[in-house]
Amino acid sequence: MSISPQRSTTIDCTELATRIEQGHELNAEEALELLSVDDAEVFRLVAAAGILRRKHFGNTVKVNYLVNLKSGLCPEDCTYCSQRLGSKAEILKYTWLKPEEAVHQAGLGIAGGASRVCMVASGKGPTDRDIDRVAAMIGSLKEEHPQVEVCACIGILKEGQAQRLKAAGADAYNHNLNTAESLYPDICSTHSYAERVSTVEQSKSAGLSPCSGLIVGLGETAEQLVEAIFALRALDADSIPVNFLMPFDGTPLQGTWNLTPLACLRILAVVRMACPDKEIRMAGGREMHLRSLQANALEVANSLFLGDYLTSEGQDAKTDLAMIADAGFVVLGQEDQDPASIARALGEAAAHAARQPEDAGNAGANGCSGSCCSSDASPACGSGSSGCGPAASQPLLRRRGAGTRETPNA
Ligand code: SF4
Repeated sequence: MSISPQRSTTIDCTELATRIEQGHELNAEEALELLSVDDAEVFRLVAAAGILRRKHFGNTVKVNYLVNLKSGLCPEDCTYCSQRLGSKAEILKYTWLKPEEAVHQAGLGIAGGASRVCMVASGKGPTDRDIDRVAAMIGSLKEEHPQVEVCACIGILKEGQAQRLKAAGADAYNHNLNTAESLYPDICSTHSYAERVSTVEQSKSAGLSPCSGLIVGLGETAEQLVEAIFALRALDADSIPVNFLMPFDGTPLQGTWNLTPLACLRILAVVRMACPDKEIRMAGGREMHLRSLQANALEVANSLFLGDYLTSEGQDAKTDLAMIADAGFVVLGQEDQDPASIARALGEAAAHAARQPEDAGNAGANGCSGSCCSSDASPACGSGSSGCGPAASQPLLRRRGAGTRETPNA
């Protein structure tokens, strides 16, 4: 793979983390050396990065929940994306959720422990009418759940749109840089890296907490990965989601497998060493790339998405909460609750969702009956992916939650 060819290194990770704790800023040479530590040294690196994680975030894990407000049908051509122009991935495709459905879906994630809801829509960026629509959803959500942070993620913003989202009650805005500026033309031809940077800057100016992160495993070199991480540091984003490429069939990056679990840990550790006090989220693709090392990644990352992703299914929410508790971490905002009570709340939320009226979703034709719940479930049906089947080795397409009549993974 292009990232982190291993070599013997003399770097003392613990000493470096201690210096960073005292104010040293990670430089490119050190970052490259960390990216190339031998497999046998990766857990030492994780422990060193954990010094910084625990200094700034203790043993808390922030739980975020995605609601895909509008799925597929995007006119942009980002190569990694299953919703792109010309994508042949058989994802759910639907236009804007009704506001009450968006708030209902978000509520299920909140019941599962999410302290931030990320409201996402496909597309290059919102029209002013889209802003009205999302502002109304944010307003309703805040009315029902005033304690919950709302992050909007609806694409490249035009002048004044960030201010309107802020006025509606949004707390944060996500727009990922995704990769290095030097690689960006290979990843997307319909918008520029500069437009992405500008959107993050606009959200900052409007008083929204900036969230911007990466997709790794696109074919970037170690140098390009460091370039992207340092660009995020310069952008001063408060939260940094690190996504691991999910190579959907029917997209240009189908069949691209550049990552190993240990490489993912190295990458997360370098992001932590570069941005010691930022929320670092292990995001999409963690299940298939970190696999059995997900709990180890919590020693570096202090945040994750609960439930499903935009177009694919994630690990069962209860499994995630158990993983957090088993590894000695606590869900942010629920420090006083024991894991058993959280698991009970999850069960109640799922039962409640199952009782929702038939018209709760607007794309029920794509919903799965759930009748294939067995270990040999068809790969086109994700419902066997996380709750009842074997661990996924391919992105399993989402067939539940927003845009369907099926109970979400929350
Ligand atoms: S990443 Fe966003 S802009 Fe790019 S193709 Fe996917 S939905 Fe469209």
